[in-house]
Amino acid sequence: MRLELIGPPGAGKGTQGRRLCLDLGIPHLSTGDMLRKNVQLGTTLGQEAQPYLDRGELVPDELVSRMVEERLAQQDCQDGYLLDGFPRNVEQVEVLDRILEKRGWSRSAILLLQVPDQELMTRVLRRREEEQRLDDRKEVFAKRLKVYHLQTRPLIETYRKRGVLLEVDGGGSEEEVFGRLKAILAGVAA
Ligand code: AMP
Repeated sequence: MRLELIGPPGAGKGTQGRRLCLDLGIPHLSTGDMLRKNVQLGTTLGQEAQPYLDRGELVPDELVSRMVEERLAQQDCQDGYLLDGFPRNVEQVEVLDRILEKRGWSRSAILLLQVPDQELMTRVLRRREEEQRLDDRKEVFAKRLKVYHLQTRPLIETYRKRGVLLEVDGGGSEEEVFGRLKAILAGVAA
């Protein structure tokens, strides 16, 4: 399956994405994880991306798009993958359209995890104790949420108009959300 997982910061994309990938036997391609890894390793990409991550802003499309295109070319992605956190704006949808077209691939499903803003802040404050992500600090998180509403929501409209978006209630326990995702994917062809 070729999947995309979209949702606001703190909606549980990482947790659910990892679980789904284990279950389906496909690689989990989280652009946030990839960028953090590059920052940790001090690569050129990491050095360029870090100020954006620190501010809670989107890393320039060109950098992220190249990273995703290279990752999708690797052997383990040839039979499916789950993209977590990409695309994140309308331009990135078009980049992905072109990558998929070149490879002769199509999207199996796009999953949108819906969680109300009030609940997101509570969840992230809890996550801060477990994961220690610097961008989970209150002000940076608020910025990421704002960026989501301004830049990522228009992408959701684009997908909705194309009629390819599966919307999933991201509220409740990890188990409940996972169950909903599995149920909705049961109706999707690989
Ligand atoms: P995430 O782990 O998905 O919440 O992403 C953490 C941070 O990585 C974001 O706040 C952005 O700075 C950056 N990032 C992740 N994915 C993208 C993307 N598709 N485009 C631009 N920046 C991204």
